[in-house]
Amino acid sequence: MSDALVLVINSGSSSLKFALMDAQTGDAVISGAGECFGRDDARMSWKVDGEKTEKTLSAGSNHHQEAMDIIVGLIESNQLSDKLQAVGHRVVHGGETFSQATLIDDAVLAQIDALKALAPLHNPAHVVGIKAARKAFPSLPQVAVFDTAFHQTMPEKAYHYAISRQLYNDYGIRRYGFHGTSHYYVSREAAKWLNQAPEQTNVITVHLGNGASLCAVKEGQSVDTSMGFTPLAGLMMGTRCGDIDPSILEFLSKKGLSMDQIHHELIDKAGLLGVSELTNDCRGLVEAAEQGHKGAQLALEMFAYRVAKFIASYMVPLSRLDAIVFTGGIGENSLPVREMILKELAIFGYQADADANAAARFGAAGQITTQASPLALVIPTNEELVIAQQAMAMA
Ligand code: ADP
Repeated sequence: MSDALVLVINSGSSSLKFALMDAQTGDAVISGAGECFGRDDARMSWKVDGEKTEKTLSAGSNHHQEAMDIIVGLIESNQLSDKLQAVGHRVVHGGETFSQATLIDDAVLAQIDALKALAPLHNPAHVVGIKAARKAFPSLPQVAVFDTAFHQTMPEKAYHYAISRQLYNDYGIRRYGFHGTSHYYVSREAAKWLNQAPEQTNVITVHLGNGASLCAVKEGQSVDTSMGFTPLAGLMMGTRCGDIDPSILEFLSKKGLSMDQIHHELIDKAGLLGVSELTNDCRGLVEAAEQGHKGAQLALEMFAYRVAKFIASYMVPLSRLDAIVFTGGIGENSLPVREMILKELAIFGYQADADANAAARFGAAGQITTQASPLALVIPTNEELVIAQQAMAMA
């Protein structure tokens, strides 16, 4: 272990994930998560040297602060305080204010808070986590790493919606894009794999998890991405609808659904779950599809078709494509889904190599296409490592 550890924190409204990481190797010395914050069954679990501990949190207390106190206690009891150099916070929305990782002071915290207009579920929860961490580690640099930052290089023609400029000027309505930390990481890893400098590398990164998005990365920079003003846009996802005709909202409203109900339909009841009427879990869908479940088959076909259409459209901003890069839970593990996507891209000559596709899973990276095919790679993502490294760079 090196002497430099970073505490990586992902604070949600009712949860908090953390990892105490070696910023060089990416090894997590201690990691854990708290859930059900704000409720009587709030709890926390963590692992030290592979040994798991669970604890129920006190009813009625500030659970984010209690979690942070537990983390401080863990760091102290494992005699790691001297090695801790910085705290890195995942922050979902940096708007147009933040195009890179930023050292947090009072003014930055106020700006992150102000961006709650764009991310009402996420940014207030990050602010709670950051405040608790600043209280717990007052002498350490605290760094915010934004999901949107990598996409701030998109040109205007990619990020503007074809709506009146007034709406952009008044409310900041535009494409921001998310999963930026993941797209950044796998595009850099792909450049390494290709033995090229990131500035010379053009890839389409395909992050397929419960949330899913693509990014066209030209010469190391994001030039287009599929998520938009919010993470609901773009691909079909586990429970999210992705792109749909916006008039459907008005239609459903006239049918008597409230805006909350409509959002619930599009965010929680749609996607793989909504179409299959079975599950949002890709593994379960593949099994059911193999046994002839029509809903599961259709959901997977739609999913792969839509990913392939986005990949094809992202060839437009790239003058040359070095590789398609799959990542995320589905992208890293699901052989049948990757194969279906490459089949949809047959017009471009893509062909999965059955053995190579089978080998690249459970954390293994590698090429999954035949020698005759244009290149597709699998590269496991590691957003926590990026947060640790970017926080360390500012410490
Ligand atoms: P999140 O967006 O919540 O971080 P993940 O990146 O963990 O999501 O991805 C979750 C998805 O990955 C689920 O649909 C799950 O079924 C799928 N997945 C995870 N492991 C496998 C596997 N071994 N084979 C196929 N799909 C998998």
